[in-house]
This record gives sequence, structure tokens and C-alpha cells, in this order.
Amino acid sequence: MIKKLDHIGIAVEDLEESAAKWAEIFQLTVVKKEELPDRGVRAAFLPLKQGPNIELIASLGRDSVVDRYIRQRGEGIHHICFEVENIREAMNKLKKSGVSFTADTPVMGAGSSLTAFIHPKNANGVLIELKEKK
Ligand code: ZN
Repeated sequence: MIKKLDHIGIAVEDLEESAAKWAEIFQLTVVKKEELPDRGVRAAFLPLKQGPNIELIASLGRDSVVDRYIRQRGEGIHHICFEVENIREAMNKLKKSGVSFTADTPVMGAGSSLTAFIHPKNANGVLIELKEKK
């Protein structure tokens, strides 16, 4: 069902500053910045040569999921993302084994991929994003 670990999402307060810092320290390139108004976040993508990408996410305003996360726990690892072949199929399978999602149907995420979030209570406190690449 899971193809690979696609990215690690890191909640940051200041996207510009953090993206520049990560790019400089780890000699990465920010290949894309994207605004996801539905979720109230902006994201910057820094691919690695191998393995999952880094996704820095910052809140667009008050009271987005990322804003609440940072106020409660501070900046840090927010979620991990698994790429799946077929997100609806994966969701159905997982729902049958009792796994719950933050929303019942997948929504359009970064890069026009379909995404859904598994509630952290199902996975030892880890917020897991599922993603079906467009
Ligand atoms: Zn993500």
C-alpha cells in the first residue's frame, strides 16, 4: 500500500528565514514554494538527492493547524508523508482496520496531489499524511 516515505513536514514560524537557513546549512535548494489557502499554510520544498524531501510549513495566519501546533509545541517535526498508489483505496483499507482520518475524503494538497491525514491517535502520536501523486 505504501510506496515510500515522500517527505517530512516541519512546522516553522518564518518560512522565508527557515528555508534560507535550511538551504544554507545543509546545502539544499528550495525548488518550490506553495501557498495552500484551504489549509492556511505556506510550504517550501527542499529535495534531497536520496530519500524523503523536506517540507517546511508555516502558517498563513492565526488559527491554522500549523499555528495551533507551534503555539502548543513550538517548531519541529509536524508530520511524515507516505506516498500511496491509490489514496482512496488506501483510505478504505485503513478505515476497515479502524484507522481514523482528520477528514473523510482526500483533498488537493501541494503539487496538486491528493492528500489525507491519518489522525495521530492511530499511530503513536505521529501525524501521517497520505499522498497520491498527480
Ligand atoms: Zn506534507
